[in-house]
Amino acid sequence: MASDPDLELRGRLIRSLGSLREMLPGSFVERKRSCGRPNCHCADGKNLHSQFQISLLVDGKPKAFNIPAKLAEQVRQRIEMHHRLHAAVATICSINLRRFLKQKEDQ
Ligand SMILES: [Zn+2]
Repeated sequence: MASDPDLELRGRLIRSLGSLREMLPGSFVERKRSCGRPNCHCADGKNLHSQFQISLLVDGKPKAFNIPAKLAEQVRQRIEMHHRLHAAVATICSINLRRFLKQKEDQ
């Protein structure tokens, strides 16, 4: 029973959830913009500045929060964590549903 691959996978997923505790909500967005200074490299309209944002719904309304460039990679990873959480939950639920249906059959 301990070598059931479903149970091994489920246990691995459950144990991995703690590492996702710093997850952030929403989507990671990179916007290109010009700063408006006439002598800046962005004035040609091609070499634009990157503005990173967290985009999400707050009380049903779309919001965007700016992310300082030096935190962008960290925030991107922390947003990715909640996608991993959703994927883990979906896998755990499908394992449990399969086990439930089998258990039901056996009774
Ligand atoms: Zn500029």
